[in-house]
Amino acid sequence: MIVIFAILTSYMSHSIFKILSLLTCLSLIACTQKPGEQKAQFFIFGTVLEVTIWGAGDAQAQQAFASLQSQFQEMHHQWHAWEPGPLTEINQAFASGLPAQASPSIVEMTRRSQLIEEQTGGRFNPAIGALVRLWGFHTSDYPIEGPPPGQVKIDALVARNPSSLDILLNGLTMTSTNPAVQLDFGGIAKGYAIDIACDTLKNLGIDNAIVNAGGDLRAFGSHGDRPWRIAIRDPGGGIIAALEAGQDEAIFTSGNYERFRQDNESRYPHILDPRTGWPVKDLASVTVITREGWLADAAATALIVAGLDDWVKVARALGLDQVLLVDEAGKAYLTEKMNQRVEFVAGVEKEIVIF
Ligand code: ADP
Ligand code: MG
Repeated sequence: MIVIFAILTSYMSHSIFKILSLLTCLSLIACTQKPGEQKAQFFIFGTVLEVTIWGAGDAQAQQAFASLQSQFQEMHHQWHAWEPGPLTEINQAFASGLPAQASPSIVEMTRRSQLIEEQTGGRFNPAIGALVRLWGFHTSDYPIEGPPPGQVKIDALVARNPSSLDILLNGLTMTSTNPAVQLDFGGIAKGYAIDIACDTLKNLGIDNAIVNAGGDLRAFGSHGDRPWRIAIRDPGGGIIAALEAGQDEAIFTSGNYERFRQDNESRYPHILDPRTGWPVKDLASVTVITREGWLADAAATALIVAGLDDWVKVARALGLDQVLLVDEAGKAYLTEKMNQRVEFVAGVEKEIVIF
């Protein structure tokens, strides 16, 4: 399988290459399933999402995977920021100053996003879809190449000051008082999707599972007689630390190392500071552990924007106590509570921050 994969890559376009590598992974993963585990992979928002269930019967697991498949399809359709669908229609309505009808899940995600935008002083801002598009980040095909957009264009979008707080919610009707608002839930949707998936599994009587989108995950229950073991990726490659998940926890990492624009020697990661319109570069990654995925996901994005100067203030405002940051030099900064549970690989310089 690996040999075929290597030969084909030289002939294939980038996205076909990705699908092939995905298929290769899927069959490899299926082969390495451990006793007691049931696994399935899904593709949502350009990411492979793997669900591992422990201790369920075959029929129960198959039923759960079938439910998740249709739910993920619906979420992908509902929340996608650039594939034409319900969210792009809402964005068109906003741009024209018209009210829009939304699904309950979009209304709920907007409500939660508004909360996080407020608590993070606008560092997390899901209304900057036009800026994300201008930077070319409305793609699943990374890295993208070429110079950044012109400063004049960036300034023009920042000056229009889009904010999720410009959106008025009335039942399922959403209206924006600012036509520059373009919703992009890229910083929170994965977390919310993982929460919904966990709820579905629990409702179907599954007691132990991990729902994992490339290291962003929520785990509940256990792996039989031991806890779920979680690895945290090193922005420089490999694994920087490991920990054991509690009874029900979300662990999310935002980083600048995977999705970015490359322009010769310069790299422009896909997380933007809404106040400047430019990508943030201070931190290589931020990992947040909290109860729910939507909060962990949005918080990790916000803390990347907050950077080394402001992260403590923003983490406090969000009510977080388990945060790990890694700077560009590979140094780790972490809260005491995070330090009590993570085990670093050898040689990582760390600084514990008293909260
Ligand atoms: P990842 O998808 O790599 O885990 P994030 O969760 O941090 O990364 O989400 C990044 C995505 O969020 C971007 O691709 C973009 O769609 C959106 N985004 C970028 N900057 C911000 C921001 N400041 N606030 C909210 N969303 C953002
Ligand atoms: Mg995020």
